[in-house]
Amino acid sequence: RAKSKGRNTFSHYVPALTEKARERFELERALREAMAMEELSLHYQPLMELDTGRCLGAEALLRWNSHRHGQVAPGTFVPLAEDSGLIVPIGSWVLHQACRQGKLWLDAGMNVQTLAVNISPIQFMHQDIVRLVAGALQSTGLPPSRLELEITEGALMSHIDQAGHTLHALKQLGVRIAVDDFGTGYSSLAYLRRFPLDKLKIDKSFLVGVPEDTGECQLVRTVVDLGRNLGLEVLAEGIETAAQRCFLQSEGCHHGQGYLFARPMPAEHFVCWYQAQLPVS
Ligand code: C2E
Ligand code: MG
Ligand code: MG
Ligand code: MG
Repeated sequence: RAKSKGRNTFSHYVPALTEKARERFELERALREAMAMEELSLHYQPLMELDTGRCLGAEALLRWNSHRHGQVAPGTFVPLAEDSGLIVPIGSWVLHQACRQGKLWLDAGMNVQTLAVNISPIQFMHQDIVRLVAGALQSTGLPPSRLELEITEGALMSHIDQAGHTLHALKQLGVRIAVDDFGTGYSSLAYLRRFPLDKLKIDKSFLVGVPEDTGECQLVRTVVDLGRNLGLEVLAEGIETAAQRCFLQSEGCHHGQGYLFARPMPAEHFVCWYQAQLPVS
């Protein structure tokens, strides 16, 4: 019941803020327990060769099914994990779990060429990242050439010197490096050329207007050309329609992933999906 306008605004503003902060605090507390409660899991989305329709591998994507909050989107809990530092133990779990799964699939005779794992910028800048990756490869037995680390453009470009050192050390292990969400940050072209990269993943936001919007098409064309001129594999994320796939193929983009092919799915479903894809012999 504040009298002045200023105090009135104040009394409305503060409860709203604390409510938000409380929610966030509660979610963070729940996330802290999520690993111990076995609420985290990985889903896998196929990585496709566009010209042949073959599945070349999978990207591991983290899921959180909280007993208290239900299914929480990565867009909500990954930033929370990053702000709280929880991304370090969680990311370590993801890496081990994905490598273990990749090794199981190889042993079962599935030709999963690439197992892609997202590495948070926080994790990438952590001094232990090289040892962590080496440890995951060693303890699971996944051949290094099968592991692809996805690092966002922003993480690479914001600390260029350290990023360069880390990338070279990771490459020494024999793993592949992909630039994730390419086009959403600011890349120095000089460094794109100098860093030991294998793949550019064009961010899915670029595909929304394709093929109807000529401006968007021109943009995608430019990014595909850039990647190819740098000698990198180019993969388009977020392919939802046959028309998008067709356009990308005509532009010489050979790799893609998206709902057109499959949504991210639990490991058991991925196996079934993969078997069903194989040509009958
Ligand atoms: P990302 O690495 O760019 O992953 C691709 C996202 O695009 C996934 O969202 C995937 O489900 C979604 N996607 C794939 N195909 C399509 C499509 O055709 N249409 C649309 N609209 N979306 C599509 P998801 O699983 O919600 O993950 C969101 C982001 O959360 C990821 O983006 C990644 O940045 C982060 N994330 C997920 N798992 C991990 C993880 O294990 N570690 C870290 N550090 N980040 C992760
Ligand atoms: Mg990714
Ligand atoms: Mg990512
Ligand atoms: Mg992406």
